[in-house]
Amino acid sequence: MSIDGGVMGVNEGLPVVVIGAGPVGLAAAAELAERGLEPLVLEAGPTAATSVLEWGHVRLFSPWGWLTDPAAERLLAGAGWTVPDPQAYPTGAEWAAGYLAPLAAALGERVRAGVRVVGVTRRGRDRVVDAGRETEPLVVHTDAGERIPARAVIDASGTWTSPNPLGGDGLPATGEAAAGDRVQAAIPNLADPVERARFGGGHVAVVGSGHSALTALAGLAGLAREVQGTRVSWLLRRSGFGQVFGGGEADQLPARGALGSRAAEAVDAGLVTPVFGFRTERVDPVAEGRLRLVADDGREVDDVDEVLVLTGFRPDLSWLSEVRTELDPALQAPVRLAPLIDPNAHSCGTVYPHGAAELAHPEPGFYMAGMKSYGRAPTFLARTGYEQVRSIADALAGDHEAAARVELVLNETGVCGGAGLFDSDESIAETETGSGCCGSAVPASVPSSAGAVSSAGAVSSA
Ligand SMILES: Cc1cc2nc3c(=O)[nH]c(=O)nc-3n(C[C@H](O)[C@H](O)[C@H](O)COP(=O)(O)OP(=O)(O)OC[C@H]3O[C@@H](n4cnc5c(N)ncnc54)[C@H](O)[C@@H]3O)c2cc1C
Repeated sequence: MSIDGGVMGVNEGLPVVVIGAGPVGLAAAAELAERGLEPLVLEAGPTAATSVLEWGHVRLFSPWGWLTDPAAERLLAGAGWTVPDPQAYPTGAEWAAGYLAPLAAALGERVRAGVRVVGVTRRGRDRVVDAGRETEPLVVHTDAGERIPARAVIDASGTWTSPNPLGGDGLPATGEAAAGDRVQAAIPNLADPVERARFGGGHVAVVGSGHSALTALAGLAGLAREVQGTRVSWLLRRSGFGQVFGGGEADQLPARGALGSRAAEAVDAGLVTPVFGFRTERVDPVAEGRLRLVADDGREVDDVDEVLVLTGFRPDLSWLSEVRTELDPALQAPVRLAPLIDPNAHSCGTVYPHGAAELAHPEPGFYMAGMKSYGRAPTFLARTGYEQVRSIADALAGDHEAAARVELVLNETGVCGGAGLFDSDESIAETETGSGCCGSAVPASVPSSAGAVSSAGAVSSA
């Protein structure tokens, strides 16, 4: 199979359909347009950057200099765009207003909002049929019943819309749905008086250990300082802190490192009570609309007012049933990319250069890019996505040398073993003795003896 999937042949007059007008989908369009290929971006939401706007109140840990795509910058330069200060840190809303919305506007009719993709297939063939896969166009189905033929498809639809559930085993906990909006999968906006009133003075359980959980913990600790009676329990599946606080000052993205340090300080100050080895199995309603979380070993976290499920995301593969994808069985990322981003293995947060070759599937002309390409792996950076779509655009334009020449220099997290999904004590021990490649991952002042059962009485054995 050729890397461009034969798209330079009979289907030359057709657009490259890009699914999703997030940062990576829009960058893909800019990269394609620069090479003379016609992109058509289909966005399910009412505007470009719909997902980013949903977490618009969150400040990014990457500065502006890391958040714009080079081809997009060139396109915007012709449209009188004001370049943001490369050292400043925007919120999601500022990223959208200052870059993504102008970029969508510059792309004009090549971006269509309010169009949800519900399927991708090969014209006249389901995934079983071999004949014609190199020559027939891909066809993109939309929720309005349109069938759009495409010379290639880049799925940049992200993972924001399919967060992981509360259940420690990857399936919803019993009673999770019935708990309604008391269980939410988003970082609260504590600058909003309504949200402050909702979370202030109550008992909040934060579940998860990635950057979103650290962000929420830091915010809630601030709230606990100001509003009496606010209690925060932090439920972790792992048996100790291990690398959870990230690299601190060793992180090459200082604001990302600071997230962990702030969360560590909150634990140190007693504002956040960690609960280790807690794999939620059940959510039970208790008196006064409160909840009780029950782990698979019977332990309980009681009298919870709000649960923040910040356990990461997974790709929605439901509408890709008729394309021949090849995904890693664990991460659900393209099979050649997965070993490069596996949080159980890769070192120091480093992502090895990868592009069209690693992102290709057995289906000619079909690629996943952006956050979705990472499957269930954490620590995706927008810049990774920009380099991915630069390489894919080169491959689709027939410049295979440029497609293969991927130069991706990313900021290391300062943590040996990556962001980590470790549950075992061995990996924690390795980190704490500083034998990892980046030295100790635990910033100063983290309590070393935080127990599995809190002294605040939030946890009890059933
Ligand atoms: C809270 C948070 C903070 C982050 N901070 C940083 C940071 O500081 N630095 C950094 O580099 N990265 C950061 N990231 C990671 C990443 O860069 C962003 O998530 C980024 O938005 C990913 O871009 P994307 O284009 O791949 O996906 P998304 O931004 O999720 O965009 C996907 C788009 O596809 C649309 N869509 C979904 N399904 C369909 C469909 N079926 N049909 C049509 N359209 C569809 C969605 O509406 C959405 O607009 C952060 C992520 C989160 C969640």
